Amino acid sequence: MSTILTHIAISDGKIKRSSLEVLSHCKKLAESGGHSVEAVIIDEKASSFVDGVKKYGASKIYTVEDPIFKNHMNTPLLKALAKVMETANPYVFAFASTEGTKDILGALAANQDAAVLPDVSSFELGDGGITAKRPVMAAKIIANTEAKGDKILVSVRSGSYDLVENETNAEVVNIDFSMDDNDLKATLKEIISASGDTIDLNEAEAIVAAGRGVKDEEGQNLISELASVLNAGIGASRALTEAGVYDPSLQIGQTGKVVSPQLYIAVGISGAIQHVAGMANSKVIVAINKDPDAPIFEVADYGIVGDLYKVLPPFIEEIKKI
Ligand code: FAD
Repeated sequence: MSTILTHIAISDGKIKRSSLEVLSHCKKLAESGGHSVEAVIIDEKASSFVDGVKKYGASKIYTVEDPIFKNHMNTPLLKALAKVMETANPYVFAFASTEGTKDILGALAANQDAAVLPDVSSFELGDGGITAKRPVMAAKIIANTEAKGDKILVSVRSGSYDLVENETNAEVVNIDFSMDDNDLKATLKEIISASGDTIDLNEAEAIVAAGRGVKDEEGQNLISELASVLNAGIGASRALTEAGVYDPSLQIGQTGKVVSPQLYIAVGISGAIQHVAGMANSKVIVAINKDPDAPIFEVADYGIVGDLYKVLPPFIEEIKKI
């Protein structure tokens, strides 16, 4: 029996939903392959998140707790991850794909002499390794990839798997760790948060995305109102981030964020390949565009051909009734 270990990422004092999606998938793989599934939380308050993780079926939960982690620097995280791998000896160590894992996975793979498959949309246990599907070339191609060996790191895009609750009486093991600020060559001085109450697009269950068809403040207000009634995050095409209408952090696409929410509503977006690369994996795609030939309709599950200024007000009113 081997161990499949899942890293539980914490962001803004909350467990990242995408980590629990990965844990849910690992639990399923472990059950069908006769393996054990374990989880690790590395945070200044790691133990406070144990109950939230227990619901998703890990048989053992490691915690690594130290004030140094509030620094969000890679040096302590890498050191902690290496210590966790040496303790848990996982066959597969699975992460949710985030900006942070892009940075850390290569370093951890080199440190542990492990194979690494980053940013996949699905993975399965294979013969002496794992097989995974990885969208490449702006998601035009899905590459079937494979990693062999007895230590494999993999990161999985958010929204790839459903959450499955599966409460177990997990054993909790604290791994001793301490590191001093003086051991760091670089330290974090300040975090400047993105504007206001924006919802993390990687975690959002629904996203309303605005494109160049949203021409003015009236259109932006409609986008905000629709996002508010759906409790959705707001995203944008590059046309509007480059124009300074929306913050660059909200850009979705090849050179922006790659998202896969349950619901993606593209408003006044043509559906250029570079935009679609960032949202094609969304579960349900709704497009609102006045041009019936707009390419966005090729990837949409539901399309509304019409002027967004006329379509959105009754659309919002109908949603409010639900
Ligand atoms: P447009 O293509 O101008 O489309 C506007 C749409 O709005 C049209 O389909 C029109 O019919 C519709 N419309 C207009 N008025 C209304 C109305 N009143 N009601 C309803 N519909 C209306 N783009 C990204 O989004 N993300 C990226 O990450 C990205 N990366 C790129 C990387 C590279 C290397 C390059 C070259 C380009 C990249 N782009 C990216 C740009 C991309 O090619 C497109 O130019 C961009 O996505 C277009 O944005 P848009 O759909 O909002 O605008």
